[in-house]
Amino acid sequence: MAVIELNGAPVAYRLVRSSRTRRITIRVTAEGVRVTAPTRVSVAGVERALRADRDWITAALARAAAAAPPPLGDGAVLPYLDESLLLALADVRAVRRDGARLLVPAGADPVVAVERWYRSRARDHLGSLVATWAPVMGVSPGGLAVRGQRSRWGSASARGTIALNWRLMLAPARIGEYVVVHELAHLLHMDHSPRFWAAVERHWPDHRADRAWLRSNGPSVLAMVRGPAAGSVVSAG
Ligand SMILES: [Zn+2]
Repeated sequence: MAVIELNGAPVAYRLVRSSRTRRITIRVTAEGVRVTAPTRVSVAGVERALRADRDWITAALARAAAAAPPPLGDGAVLPYLDESLLLALADVRAVRRDGARLLVPAGADPVVAVERWYRSRARDHLGSLVATWAPVMGVSPGGLAVRGQRSRWGSASARGTIALNWRLMLAPARIGEYVVVHELAHLLHMDHSPRFWAAVERHWPDHRADRAWLRSNGPSVLAMVRGPAAGSVVSAG
């Protein structure tokens, strides 16, 4: 497997060389990206072809992941903020991190165990972001709930409670921080009016790039760490 960065996210692909093909073919399935290339084409040439098709590849991966989330087992790679963790079934009593490995009790349901660990990390990480940003933005949220919403990243209630999706821990760190700023800005303006977006922009000038990232990658992130019976998720925001 090789890895290339497309639209800001690492994408693993398998390269198959063939002397019988005359052009580069890219296929995306639930198993991943597979590239068939003539023997004489360089790796740089293959990467150029992948970059040229990056929007199509990202969208197809998101669709495939939403339709059939890959099973979570030994050797699975899980994003964790700006890092990747390698899931390893081990003789441990509870999930714990060991360097770049996430040790999961061999007898446990990995989906349940991994979600519990991510949720507890989310309470710490997202909680400290809320605590940092609230005074900067001049708001005082009534509380923070970490949830596993199917189709949204966060929400703010009229009573001032912020709800955030623990799956933000599966996205780059800046995405979770943007969502925190977005939901806190709702305590100033409970709508998506120009005044609301002006408040977001004042504190998070890069929000357009992060919203674009969520549109491209959100469905596949929301589909991660689910059991085989999981439904698909389409919209996020
Ligand atoms: Zn909003």
